[in-house]
Amino acid sequence: MSSKKNTARSSLGIGRLPGSKADVSNLFIHLCTAQNKQGNKYKVGGNIEAVFTKFVSEGKFTIRFKEPAHDLCVKADPVLAKTFLQTLKLGIQNKDIDKLRLSTLAPVKQSQVEKPKTKLVITCKKDYPITTAFPYSLETLRVNDVDLTRVENRIMKLKRLQILDLSHNIIQVLPATMNEMHSLAELHLAHNKIKGISHQVFTGKISKTLRLLDLSNNHMEYLPHTLGQLVSLVTLRLDNNFLKKLPISLGKLTSLKFFSASNNKLVELPASVFHLKMENIDVFGNPFTSQLGIVANNMPKGVPNLREIASAYCVKRGLRPTAADIPATLVEYLQSWLKCLCGRICYESHILTCISLNLKLVAPALTIGNAFETSTPALATLCSQKCFDKFTKR
Ligand SMILES: [Zn+2]
Repeated sequence: MSSKKNTARSSLGIGRLPGSKADVSNLFIHLCTAQNKQGNKYKVGGNIEAVFTKFVSEGKFTIRFKEPAHDLCVKADPVLAKTFLQTLKLGIQNKDIDKLRLSTLAPVKQSQVEKPKTKLVITCKKDYPITTAFPYSLETLRVNDVDLTRVENRIMKLKRLQILDLSHNIIQVLPATMNEMHSLAELHLAHNKIKGISHQVFTGKISKTLRLLDLSNNHMEYLPHTLGQLVSLVTLRLDNNFLKKLPISLGKLTSLKFFSASNNKLVELPASVFHLKMENIDVFGNPFTSQLGIVANNMPKGVPNLREIASAYCVKRGLRPTAADIPATLVEYLQSWLKCLCGRICYESHILTCISLNLKLVAPALTIGNAFETSTPALATLCSQKCFDKFTKR
């Protein structure tokens, strides 16, 4: 009715005073804000000119009152909005009011009208909630230096959490169920005692949303091959661990721009990184002692098997059959593809060989050993004798 808008986070209820007669004439809409916890009461009986509900599926509706003559525009959780309107409708119809779930029109508590908390930082043991829950609305949670030993289930259940920082604790194992976290974009786990990670951690919902993974300064000796499923990963930090090798699937992280694995025990890199376009690679302080040459020749005498040929075709065409289409073991097999330096997809039929890879072709900013070094030994899967001849001569 008026263009003048006065918006406030509010608590909205329908109620009647305890003890009053169950009749529409005693019904009120009760609107409370942080400034006015007692709230304003609007009479329901004969006082509502119209209710506009066209956008109720988005949680929006408007109630037009006669006295005071103004509109109450509401934006709420869609489920709560529908429940509210349903109760209001029954109230206006004056039917079974004693059976409706109504408020007592009591003043609201501060927690009911304040903005939901989106960020929580805990750096002291006594601040870590033990008997109370974490606010459901958290988007950022940082818990540092409190000797946390595990990632708790109630943290993993925070559906809106985007940044989880548990660095500087004593966590040893990551639970497999972490993969079901809904919106996680950054996972900071530096300076813990993580030894190994189960392959499930990098699958599931997390594989689509995670953009930053910091596992530096831990005790890791290996990483699972499912690392390659983190398709949105931009930053990967693995510095100061005990890693000897990295999974070949590293080359599947097509969004990766910043990669560091300095001060590990790497003897080589996977040559699959050749397919990436990164901005910065830091692998300083690794031995890189692998000898160049053939590691294993897995080329079949005759034609590769049908499973391999059909799977390579599927990957090339971007087909992604699920367990509903083909056996689950085949789905897993399909995802285990390797890429030859020529770009061809291969599976078990390949020549595994250690080549010298010029990382300048992968990223403009490099730290390997001294300022002039640009190459490291790299383990390549080559699809044919032809590719072997071509790439080992280079
Ligand atoms: Zn090839």
